[in-house]
Amino acid sequence: MNKIYLLLGSNAGNREVLLQEAVKQIADNCGEIVVESSIYETAAWGMENQEAFLNKVLQLDTRLLAEVLLKKLQAIEDNLGRQREVLWGPRTLDIDILFYNSDVISLPDLKVPHPFLQKRRFTLVPMAEIAPTMVHPVLHKTIAELLEECTDTLEVAKWS
Ligand code: AMP
Repeated sequence: MNKIYLLLGSNAGNREVLLQEAVKQIADNCGEIVVESSIYETAAWGMENQEAFLNKVLQLDTRLLAEVLLKKLQAIEDNLGRQREVLWGPRTLDIDILFYNSDVISLPDLKVPHPFLQKRRFTLVPMAEIAPTMVHPVLHKTIAELLEECTDTLEVAKWS
């Protein structure tokens, strides 16, 4: 069994329903959801003049290989109406693989741990809620330490 952390985000449409539907489709298609963080409302990162996101982190147990998991998650994004025109632009649903066990994966279409994880409070805050002591396999620091050191100042507020 493999231990995965996923980040879900939505900033278009009915954001809460989209997150709920994504959780359901992940449970139906990818494995067992073991832990869910709270939902956080977070200012958009990268392209800041757009709607705020709702974000949450899930811990998933799965037998799927990382690339197979990525394909299944992309199919779920597509099912839920993801538009891919603009990098870092509005999206109904985005799913990122943050960690796959403590593996380091560097394929053209898949980088794990997610390369921006340590730069983004919207990822570190929900991760720190459910896995503060997890050690990043490349940076060799815990999630709590990475959050303390993170210089991102965009707002991340608990939503529900
Ligand atoms: P985004 O627009 O942020 O959802 O990025 C999607 C692209 O990132 C896809 O083409 C993926 O193949 C690629 N990608 C690379 N690493 C990851 C990862 N750890 N999780 C999800 N997508 C990834």
